[in-house]
Amino acid sequence: MANNEELFKKIISHSKEYGFIFPSSEIYDGLSAVYDYGQYGVELKNNIKNYWWKAMVQFNENIVGIDTAIFMHPTIWKASGHVDAFSDPLIDNKDSKKRYRADVLVEEHVAKIEDKIRKEVEKAAKRFGDAFDEQQFVGTNARVVEYQTKIDAINKRLNQSLEANDLADVKKLIEELEIVCPVSGSRNWTEVRQFNLMFSTQMGSVSEDANQIYLRPETAQGIFVNYLNVQKSGRMKIPFGIAQIGKAFRNEIVARQFIFRMREFEQMEMQYFVKPGEELQWFEYWKDLRLKWHYSLGLPKNKYRIHNHEKLAHYANAACDIEFEFPFGFKELEGIHSRTDFDLNAHQKFSGKKLQFFDPETNESYVPYVVETSIGVDRMFLAILSYAYNEEVLEDGSTRVVLSILPVLAPIKAAILPLMKKDGLPEKAREIMDVLKYDFLCQYDEKDAIGRRYRRQDAIGTPYCITVDHQTLQDNTVTIRERDTMKQERIAIDKIAAIVEDKISFKKAFTQ
Ligand code: ATP
Repeated sequence: MANNEELFKKIISHSKEYGFIFPSSEIYDGLSAVYDYGQYGVELKNNIKNYWWKAMVQFNENIVGIDTAIFMHPTIWKASGHVDAFSDPLIDNKDSKKRYRADVLVEEHVAKIEDKIRKEVEKAAKRFGDAFDEQQFVGTNARVVEYQTKIDAINKRLNQSLEANDLADVKKLIEELEIVCPVSGSRNWTEVRQFNLMFSTQMGSVSEDANQIYLRPETAQGIFVNYLNVQKSGRMKIPFGIAQIGKAFRNEIVARQFIFRMREFEQMEMQYFVKPGEELQWFEYWKDLRLKWHYSLGLPKNKYRIHNHEKLAHYANAACDIEFEFPFGFKELEGIHSRTDFDLNAHQKFSGKKLQFFDPETNESYVPYVVETSIGVDRMFLAILSYAYNEEVLEDGSTRVVLSILPVLAPIKAAILPLMKKDGLPEKAREIMDVLKYDFLCQYDEKDAIGRRYRRQDAIGTPYCITVDHQTLQDNTVTIRERDTMKQERIAIDKIAAIVEDKISFKKAFTQ
């Protein structure tokens, strides 16, 4: 764990030092849980979005994309349930003045008991060796069974009190479990209160007439309210999907872990409209397809796991999270939800407009069911970065930091480096750059020794370095150095584009 914390700190400082992510408003000491993407960060982020968009919209002929406004009619958030129910239970510690999500405090307590179980299992596995049967051990060992019973009881009680909105009981549970504030170490807690996570603002110039509106907390509602526009104008037949990438805003109570939980973030969401009764089939279909998308990014399969929701939101009849092992543990990266006809029905009711599909084959009209896939761009960015960051010890004993990002996602695709700043080498390098820049993002760099320039490109994940030397002037060849193997090869200038294009091909990454 200590090592992972160390790694996480390194990733954060690397992100800043190399122009990936800066704290927002840094010269004013920052703004809590808000971040800016720097010159390489924005490229990586755009490439992630593009990779998703291609896999969704370009690859599936029955999925189209839209881009809806952040501001929406305030009644939308009434219909969706966000005004009444998009809140988290918060609790303050009176001594440290720190604020916590009450449910998270309890969940962290449960995680500690789970850790104890894990330790018992590890101990027993060592003791029994090959003959160890984990399932049997967990089901029969008295201590483990006792821990598990405790966990089940806590979870049940927490869920029941949250569902009944019995916040006094949540507080009582925190007291009974003797949970202390991690900062002050005291049990001096306030009451638990519900806190709505939506940011609100006023629209209109005269304050009496101004309407209270919200910054959208998810992009999905923009899709729901445009369902009919898209279906009719695109003559879409069910099943079909609408995809969207855009900003979302949540006034998170505890925003931490870098870009994992921010107050302003970006989502990539897709709503798939299906025939009622077929939604669970499509839910499985999308679960499978989304996992395949993740695996195509080159991150190891064991970094992912599926968490099926047992307790479902009021609008869902099936839900799961795709979790990723971040440096701080397995956490939600993407949610896949079978949302039934809840949203379209609610918008029908609140707007008075029909939101149905007429099936010409059966002559029936119905409100479609929806399967949603929803992933945070920033969390995907963090997942990629935290796996890609590698410190390698080289044969000569020196170390290099390399970002082993899938080439199609890398911010810069090729660096063009004249070996020296004289003898016409810079001019030749620029000539090459002027040809390649039409096809992909290149970077010209002539400063410092060539080895240092290679290291700089490794640190931002550039797949290829192209070096122009004296021989280039004679025979139009360059050396091309590959990031991961560091192998160098002499090739003709007119071969560069094809080699790089092949390496950064979306098709190759997505279909391999
Ligand atoms: P969590 O339980 O972590 O708060 P959630 O279940 O509320 O997440 P959803 O409402 O399902 O999240 O949102 C879909 C996706 O949007 C999440 O899987 C996550 O990747 C991303 N996301 C949600 N909240 C944030 C946030 N505050 N910062 C960054 N990404 C977020």
